[in-house]
Amino acid sequence: MTDHLLKRELSSLAFENKFASLPGAFFTNLTPTPLPNPYLVGVSKRMLATTGLDISSLDDASFLEIFTGNKLGNNSYPLASIYSGHQFGVWAGQLGDGRAILLGDVAVTQQSARMEIQLKGAGITPYSRMGDGRAVLRSSIREFLCSEAMAGLNIPTSRALCLTGSDKYVMREQAETTAVLTRLAPSFIRFGSFEHWYYNNQPEQLQILADFVIQNYFPELQSNVNPYQALLAEVTKRTAELMAHWQSVGFMHGVMNTDNMSILGLTLDYGPFGFMESYDPKHVCNHTDTQGRYAYDMQPQIGQWNCHALGQAMLPLIGSVEETKVALSNYQHYYEEKFDQLLHRKFGLNEYLDQDKNLFDDFFTLMEKNHSDFTLSFRQLGKLLKDNDSQDEYLRDLFIDRNALDHWLQRYKLRLNQEQSNDQQRQQTMQAANPKYILRNYLAQIAIEKAQNKDFSEIEKLLEILECPFDEQPEHNNYAKLPPDWASKLEVSCSS
Ligand code: AMP
Ligand code: MG
Repeated sequence: MTDHLLKRELSSLAFENKFASLPGAFFTNLTPTPLPNPYLVGVSKRMLATTGLDISSLDDASFLEIFTGNKLGNNSYPLASIYSGHQFGVWAGQLGDGRAILLGDVAVTQQSARMEIQLKGAGITPYSRMGDGRAVLRSSIREFLCSEAMAGLNIPTSRALCLTGSDKYVMREQAETTAVLTRLAPSFIRFGSFEHWYYNNQPEQLQILADFVIQNYFPELQSNVNPYQALLAEVTKRTAELMAHWQSVGFMHGVMNTDNMSILGLTLDYGPFGFMESYDPKHVCNHTDTQGRYAYDMQPQIGQWNCHALGQAMLPLIGSVEETKVALSNYQHYYEEKFDQLLHRKFGLNEYLDQDKNLFDDFFTLMEKNHSDFTLSFRQLGKLLKDNDSQDEYLRDLFIDRNALDHWLQRYKLRLNQEQSNDQQRQQTMQAANPKYILRNYLAQIAIEKAQNKDFSEIEKLLEILECPFDEQPEHNNYAKLPPDWASKLEVSCSS
């Protein structure tokens, strides 16, 4: 079966639930709690196509009901899974899907691939603790848009199919309406899923989970002498590379707790995330993170800390501290290699020279000193010509200390000449590496405020723009501008 042949009516979307083949201790079967009078807030046409559903499915009343949790799809036996985790560096004990319910997994367009479908905000589960099992419209819009924006940036992530809303209110800092996000990933298993069995002293369950993960998601590791060690090494690599991707576009996750770390190396559980605007390596996007544990420049080392937490949990399976250390040992190497590769693309350099690190570092320092916008600086850098300064103005506009910038530009252009860089080719590479459009907080905020007044047009528009963030889309130039003054007062917290 070729990719484009997967087409189906909503009525023939059949769920299986691979996760439910695990022992009962891993989850609780339960149905979502219905929401009154749901309405469609947004849909990703790309994900609709990925699931093989035609746009006409949206006309089927069942679409809204299934993806709000008011009606079960064919063969769906929903469940919430158990996991634990370290939150802000401290063991937090049992957590689990407190408001996400797994409907099951379905075949998607990639040959033989399957994706799990979860409803986030679908009601109370046995793991809800003090929570109400709901997600508010505001944070759900942010997760919906950012999942698809990250995919547009070619960064591994969970995806979002659609978002439904309801006029039912829940209490946060203020009363807000609720929403249900339909999100997809091959698996939502977290580092904390492993930690759960380790800290509960249940090595048999730990092994069952690891075998399940290897068999379903890393079958190529089965033939390894020590498949568990190989699994840890692979997750370490994916996590390191994910951090390099985040750093390269200025993405900040905000809550890098081990329960939010995907075993597949995907960006998962979008909360108080942010994209770097005025460049400040110490920037903390999560207002609640007063210690700055998850600041931008901390992310790579926190990624490593989290891999160590996973290593600790997998130790009984791997066998020895020595073998566990070996599996973790290449984190720094993988991170640096990937980040260097991404930076070379961002700076439009084909050759790798020893002096490049200094050149890159100095550009970051300049951006920091000048409070220059991260995204726009790189985008404008990609427009320069190596032998004249006719295109320098746009970049210079973003810097206060123009002399310092000009000095750096001289070095940069010398470096370009050194590898006989071709302006046209370089511009193309850099355009494909440096996005013009990112999900700035203020853009999300405008879409949220409109949506709170039942106007969902801005969500659709942002989705369309952010699906192709590297394209010029000149008609959308307004969305690639520096944030307005009021944006600096926006605060994003864990409240969701
Ligand atoms: P998060 O910080 O969103 O990743 O959530 C951490 C934990 O709290 C997870 O176990 C969530 O399922 C749970 N949680 C967060 N918000 C709610 C809520 N409103 N109701 C129930 N559980 C929640
Ligand atoms: Mg979470």
